[in-house]
Amino acid sequence: MDPNGFKEFSKAMTDYIVEYLENIRDRTVLPTVQPGYMKPLLPNEAPQKPENWQDVMNDVERVIMPGVTHWHSPKFHAYFPTAQSYPAIVADMLSGAIACIGFTWIASPACTELEVIMLDWLGKMIGLPKEFLACSGGKAGGVIQGTASEATLVALLGAKAKKIQQVKEQHPDWKNHEIVGKLVAYGSVQAHSSVERAGLLSGVQFRLLETNEKHQLCGETLEEAIKADKEKGFVPFYVVATLGTTSSCTFDRLDEIGPICNREDIWLHVDAAYAGSAFICPEFRHLLKGIERADSFNFNPHKWMLVNFDCSPMWLKDPTYLVNAFNVDPVYLKHDMQGSAPDYRHWQIPLGRRFRSLKLWFVLRLYGIEGLQKHIRNHVALAHQFESLVLSDSRFEVVEDVVLGLVCFRLKGSNEINDNLLKRINGAGNIHLVPSKIKDNFFLRLAICSRYTESRDIQYSWNEVKRCADEVIEEQSLSK
Ligand SMILES: *Cc1c(COP(=O)(O)O)cnc(C)c1O
Repeated sequence: MDPNGFKEFSKAMTDYIVEYLENIRDRTVLPTVQPGYMKPLLPNEAPQKPENWQDVMNDVERVIMPGVTHWHSPKFHAYFPTAQSYPAIVADMLSGAIACIGFTWIASPACTELEVIMLDWLGKMIGLPKEFLACSGGKAGGVIQGTASEATLVALLGAKAKKIQQVKEQHPDWKNHEIVGKLVAYGSVQAHSSVERAGLLSGVQFRLLETNEKHQLCGETLEEAIKADKEKGFVPFYVVATLGTTSSCTFDRLDEIGPICNREDIWLHVDAAYAGSAFICPEFRHLLKGIERADSFNFNPHKWMLVNFDCSPMWLKDPTYLVNAFNVDPVYLKHDMQGSAPDYRHWQIPLGRRFRSLKLWFVLRLYGIEGLQKHIRNHVALAHQFESLVLSDSRFEVVEDVVLGLVCFRLKGSNEINDNLLKRINGAGNIHLVPSKIKDNFFLRLAICSRYTESRDIQYSWNEVKRCADEVIEEQSLSK
């Protein structure tokens, strides 16, 4: 492709993107294709000769769009949001052009330095204590991981390295594998599946502890588990507290968990994947209470802060253990500036890394803190609007406090009727929700996801829920 071809192609794509996004509301949120739909639409082999970009462009609508779930439609309410914005898309273009692999400072100094500065900006924006920030001048600092799942695993591996070193100091004759066999980590039954998975991937025992009546992990439960494990000769080393659980956006009792972890010398990691973005608004920052006791903190601007996937910043008070645990130093990666800036390859699992901080920089500058706060507040208000609509219909109940942009609700009645309701809603494909279940109580989750969502969309989604409920209830009474 020659430079002029690139200009034309990218201009045509920009027009297409704007057309797609600004009219996304009119598309059916869920595709109706069957598995294997794409095979007959494409040749069996790659083309021998170069094709025209126009032909590729035409195939986007023909081949791709029929099989796209429109995550940025205001009618998409499943999971948690994934973020998207024009500044982030443009930043990804530039990142694609520079296309550096910023594993060390020297591999592309701007890539490392912008990341350090952006993580200070962002940390200050959400009110993280200065003990987490590089600008405090100590060892602390942030790094952009690809996902929250990686952050949880990376923190676990740092905690594991730290604890092995501590135990060895007390018991120089113990072998590594003996120590690892005794290590035990904790999270709650409501923690994200990636938390349990971090335990599986790293080969340590992970206990998922029961939650209180509000589905929070509380201090007492953790304390009892630690005591019982220590009595059996286990070595507790890592706790994950969740701020904003995936099932119901519940907040673990960080204020109770932190002091226990500090006293027991256990690494405390805080997973605020979704909720973290809300902390840019002072009125939600009370949910972060107790953070000063944590060792590492992570959230996903790629969920709720208008930065396209992937962007999962993580802050560590003391990255030394991590850096040492992941440090292999082949000659070809050595450089003279080692030590004067972070070599991020030691802070993550892969070696390669994209220039992801550009997305943060562009979004933070083009929205400003105020623009981002407005986005969060708008979504929270829309969630409350949906909550009121649910509460206005006595056949329904809201099952969890609506704190941020998630409403958990159900028809009063059996799990079965709620399951039928959900199937009918998704079967119609006009809006998209996913369910959850806590302690055998099945419910529907409606997350406010799209930056295009307006009050009229919430009304539309509620009408759709109500219409499906009418049908399900009618069907049930006929079958009796
Ligand atoms: C979404 C979510 C995750 C996983 O995020 P990834 O970045 O996709 O790994 C982890 N924890 C919580 C609480 C989440 O909501």
